[in-house]
This record gives sequence, C-alpha cells and structure tokens, in this order.
Amino acid sequence: MPKVVKASAYGFCGGVRSAVEKAVSAADKAKREGIPCYVYGNLVHSRAVMSELEALGVEKIDSPSGHKPGYLIIRAHGIGDRLRSEFEAAGFLICDATCPVVLRNMERLRQADNPVIIGQRCHAEVQALLGCRNVPVVESAEESEKLPEGKYQAVVQTTFSENELASIRDKGRIEPLNTICMASEERRKALRTIIGDVDAIVVVGDSISANTMELVSISRSYGKPTFLISSDADIDEELFCYNRIGLTAGASAPDSLVDAVRRKIEEHG
Ligand code: SF4
Repeated sequence: MPKVVKASAYGFCGGVRSAVEKAVSAADKAKREGIPCYVYGNLVHSRAVMSELEALGVEKIDSPSGHKPGYLIIRAHGIGDRLRSEFEAAGFLICDATCPVVLRNMERLRQADNPVIIGQRCHAEVQALLGCRNVPVVESAEESEKLPEGKYQAVVQTTFSENELASIRDKGRIEPLNTICMASEERRKALRTIIGDVDAIVVVGDSISANTMELVSISRSYGKPTFLISSDADIDEELFCYNRIGLTAGASAPDSLVDAVRRKIEEHG
C-alpha cells in the first residue's frame, strides 16, 4: 500500500477560503430575497468550487449586459475599476470576494511611478490589474529587455513563477517589488521540503490555476514523476508504481477533494 507524505502547507489559502465563504453566503442571501446571484468569471481557479457554486444557483458572467441585476460576487482575483462601475451602474449589488493581497497590489499599481505588471497576460489577476491601470505587462526576461529605456516600478502577479521573476530581475531592467503572495511561497517551500523524501509527487488542482501549475513545475524541475490530479476519479494507475507519494495541492483545491485523493491512494491495493 503506498505511503502518502503530505506537504506541511497545501490547498485552500486564506484568500480562497474567505472568497468561497462570501460566495456561499451571497448565494444564500440571493435565494432568500428571490433575486439572481452571479459570479464575475471564475471565483477561484477550481472546477470543483465552480460546480459547487453552480449547484447553489450562481451563474458565471463576464459583463452586466443581458442579465437581470442581482448579487454579483467579485472573484478572488479581482475586477478592473471600469467594469466594476459598469456593474454598479446597471444595479448589481456587489459582494467583493477579492483577496486582500490582490487589493493591496491594485493599490500599489495605482500609486506607482512608471509601473509595469510582471505576470501572465491572460491571467485573471493581471486582467483585473490592467482594469485598474493600463500599463505594460512583462511575462519573461526577454520581454523585459524590450521595454523602452527608463526606470520602472513593478507589481508582480501573486502566483507568478519565482524562477521567471529571478530571470527578469537578472536582466536588470526592472527592480520588481516581490508581490508573490505568502500562501504561494509557503506551498512551494513545503513541497521542496518533502521532495527528497518521496518517489513521486501528486499535485491536486486544476491546470487553469497558476499556483497549481507552479507546484507541478517545481516538482518536475527536481526530476520527480509528477501527477496533476483535478478529481479523485482521474488518478493515473501509473501512480501506484511508487511507494512513497508526496501530496500537495494548489491554493484553490478544496480540502474535500484533497482528502478524497489521499484516501484513494492510501486505500489502493
Ligand atoms: S493564492 Fe495568494 S493572492 Fe491568491 S487568493 Fe490565495 S492568498 Fe490571495
């Protein structure tokens, strides 16, 4: 029977836990008041969480147009100022589930001199930051070299890759304020602590989650067989070739899912 070694920090972070609690309470309130409840985009990057919200009657939308006003839950990665105003003007009641760390970054961006954003252009948090201030986005060291000469202040996507950030810093064009969040750092550090003691790593989470994929990338950088599992129904049989299996999870993977995966591995044959 495989032995599971859990990382000391994994799964739901404070920002995600609070966002889910706020969303469930908004859905409940909307039901009692008989009005619709929506979420702007994905509340968090987890299909499991989004299915739970859907079951509570919460509909995912991207703009106010074509929707009867009701409660609007703002996702953990935030929303741009203009879009928030559009929802408010259309009569939506805002339930703000933006993570406080993201809100702090938005404020930093608004106040920075000659700012850039370091992050993945398509990521929800970067899109929300751009909606607060439209500035250049730098995804890689190569892109940082293409910036016009000047002194830049940078806000970094909270779940950005440490290695990529280090290589951008090494190019010397930007001195980024490291705004990768504590929850992401703790999960990465906890993974590195167990990695030498196991034969393979399981990362529970979704491929759409940046901090989940960073855990996968760290594990692979150590040459460990790495299994990304988004549901206990899709555990790869190959995993059971290994005796000691390290377990971690992205910050948006629910406890119930992580536990189900752990049980399924431990109970295997
Ligand atoms: S991963 Fe970091 S930024 Fe994202 S919700 Fe959690 S604490 Fe907030």
